[in-house]
Amino acid sequence: MDYDLHAAVPSLEDQITSYLGENPPSSRSQLCEALEVSRTTLGRAIKKLIDAHAVISLKGDERTGAGRPSTLFTSARLCAYSVGIVISRASFAGVLLSRGGNVLIAQSVPASRPINYLEALDAMGAMLLERAQTRGIITDYVSTIGIGLPVPMGSNISHSPHSPYPSRESVIEIISRRWNGNILIDTTARLSALSEALWGAGQGYPSILYVRLSNGIGASLVISYRLSGGDFGFTGELGHMRVPNVHTPCTCGKDGCLETLASIPSLCAQCDVSSLSELATKVKNQDSRTLSILEHAMGAVGACCANAALLINPRAIIVAGELPEAIPQVSDMIAHGLESELIPAMKWHIDVVRAELGPLAAAQAAAYASQTTASSIKKESEGTR
Ligand SMILES: [Zn+2]
Repeated sequence: MDYDLHAAVPSLEDQITSYLGENPPSSRSQLCEALEVSRTTLGRAIKKLIDAHAVISLKGDERTGAGRPSTLFTSARLCAYSVGIVISRASFAGVLLSRGGNVLIAQSVPASRPINYLEALDAMGAMLLERAQTRGIITDYVSTIGIGLPVPMGSNISHSPHSPYPSRESVIEIISRRWNGNILIDTTARLSALSEALWGAGQGYPSILYVRLSNGIGASLVISYRLSGGDFGFTGELGHMRVPNVHTPCTCGKDGCLETLASIPSLCAQCDVSSLSELATKVKNQDSRTLSILEHAMGAVGACCANAALLINPRAIIVAGELPEAIPQVSDMIAHGLESELIPAMKWHIDVVRAELGPLAAAQAAAYASQTTASSIKKESEGTR
């Protein structure tokens, strides 16, 4: 094995990243002077570093003699480019990502109850900024923000002023108090599904049905490696498919929806318990009535998944949410319900797997999605003006 002794000498690129890691954002002239190189040599090195997402160019706040704002450069390790905040009924999670997608700050706290969505967003924004400040992360140049909420957030949604759900405008208003950038708003379920598809249980599957069983029932679809929101962002409302012989009124205005049979509150009511942990204890103790109620409800979830599978032919079903986290057996019950509703003559290969990732991954997916879709978000908001 040969070792190149020249490699031991710090390259100009190394010197630049090291300088920017220890100093405030610097201009080209400052870097040339500090590192004693010509503008041309520096320019070549800076370009390489920017292409590798190791250095970020910022708009300058100082002016050159010609009156043009000079560009400042900083180390990507110190500069937050995007924010992701995801609110779920169990927790609030937030991340700051660098331009290259590295997690600079990650923060999660248990959800307060009852949840005030706007207050939760505001509090998580404040927490992220505070953590960033103590860690020396620059947050003045955040360009994209991804937000996830556990309520319908389709682009044409209009929640009444008396609704407990926030409007898109009120979310944008709260976020814009801290950051100016392109804001992506979607459901927590869809962003969690995106995180699973990218980095979790769904990795490598071209088509996925992601089902989230919590206080409500939501779903997301990945078809040919693309997670679709549909025309207005209303794909995957699995919880509002009707179940035969169920007539309970649903909050959506219909009756007999899957959610009225298989959501956590409805399961607790049917099993005469007041919380999910009590329900899990009864399952653990093999309480036969509880098991039979659960099997019936999860059979119905499986049947609804089968209806979806007949349309989209997924390779995997990812079962996520607080219910499978507390009672892992529900995925087998869903798999059983699914099998009995598929067409026997066709050879189905659908893996039913449990989700692997938590709320921080969903927040990371929110920030990631806001980066990758920034140009389309901008076009959309300009189109609505
Ligand atoms: Zn409904």
